[in-house]
Amino acid sequence: MGRPVRVRVPSPAQHMAPRERELTVALLSSTASWSRCLLAERRFCYRIPIVCAVFLYNPEVVHFNYGVTHPFRLERLWLTEYLCRRLGLFDGSQRVLRTFDPADRSNLRVAHSSSYLDALQGSSDGLMFPGLYRYGLGSGDNPIFPGLWDYVLHTAGGSLQGAELIVSGEARRVFHPGGGLHHAMPDRASGFCYVNDVVLAIHRLLDAGKRVFYLDLDAHHGDGVQNAFYERKDVLTLSVHQDGRTLFPGGGFVQEIGRGDGLGASVNVPLMPHMSDADYLRTWDEVIDPLFHAFGADVVVTELGADALAGDPLANLELGLRTWWEIMGRIASWDIHWLAVGGGGYDLANAMRAWTLAWAAMVGVDVPDELPPAPDRLVGCAADMSWPRDMWSSPVEGLARRPSDEVIAELIRQVREQVFPYHGL
Ligand SMILES: [Zn+2]
Repeated sequence: MGRPVRVRVPSPAQHMAPRERELTVALLSSTASWSRCLLAERRFCYRIPIVCAVFLYNPEVVHFNYGVTHPFRLERLWLTEYLCRRLGLFDGSQRVLRTFDPADRSNLRVAHSSSYLDALQGSSDGLMFPGLYRYGLGSGDNPIFPGLWDYVLHTAGGSLQGAELIVSGEARRVFHPGGGLHHAMPDRASGFCYVNDVVLAIHRLLDAGKRVFYLDLDAHHGDGVQNAFYERKDVLTLSVHQDGRTLFPGGGFVQEIGRGDGLGASVNVPLMPHMSDADYLRTWDEVIDPLFHAFGADVVVTELGADALAGDPLANLELGLRTWWEIMGRIASWDIHWLAVGGGGYDLANAMRAWTLAWAAMVGVDVPDELPPAPDRLVGCAADMSWPRDMWSSPVEGLARRPSDEVIAELIRQVREQVFPYHGL
């Protein structure tokens, strides 16, 4: 038996779900078992009574390749793992770097049709055959490449493992940066996404009776996840993205608020191009945070696509890394179980730093301004990247004026008018 660990935690708070209060009581009165999950950093002990965080990374995944001209780069995972390791973010028993097994086909049926899975599996030699286009396969966005089937099984496996760790109580926070393929549809690949690992993971949480708050920060609307739960009231999907009139996939408008039982449980904040830090923080204060507290979730699932950051080559939002870090800290302060997945993010240096910051927030440690030096050998297309100067700098300066405050005010007014009444707000 270990010695009791003293931490400065508040008494079980009113905002905690019953299970959270139960765990906090267990922590305060226990010795060995819960103490293994404690966070040593005193700064965060106020806010995070129990932390056992798992970072899921399977090095096999980096070897899959969408093609040399494709913007979706799996090297981002390798870079993130490198940066986290060099910053000591895996040091300590409560921060676990762990590999995972691929899913199997039966796991995917929860979210995908059998005929689509047949097509996907059949194209894994990288050769086209008639009929693939109707499944969205073989296009420029969703190429078929050798090992595709193995790749999708790995992607799904990581996020499913993440959900399982939370359901089993083994982890309080899990990050699977290789997940977040939020555009995949039941019978169609879309937007670089073949299998919707997010939908699979949320289903696993729902099966365990969890109530899920899904927050999608990718620059692109989280359409596949929204569609999967559009009529459910036990999952609230909230997507903050670039306006669909200006960016793929073309939807995610304020008026998409769910259907049937799910009315009010789909929320969309379509930001105009060049919106930036102030707009995100205002969205947080006036939409995200009130809805989170009104909804009363057991688990928050976040899609952390890094393509809303300034300088992304595929989107036009201008979120800064310091505000990203602030948002990650605010999610951590919600202090419930947290499953995070990756997503878009087409500037390698942005994605690597954004996901490192997310992991640092999950384990409750600060980060230095300076970055460690680049690795001796950068794999794949990472060899062509410019290693960033520091943790915060943007690859480009903003090229256009941010829309005026009136634009974000009106957008937020519309969102609140559409969905707040369903939540007693
Ligand atoms: Zn995206």
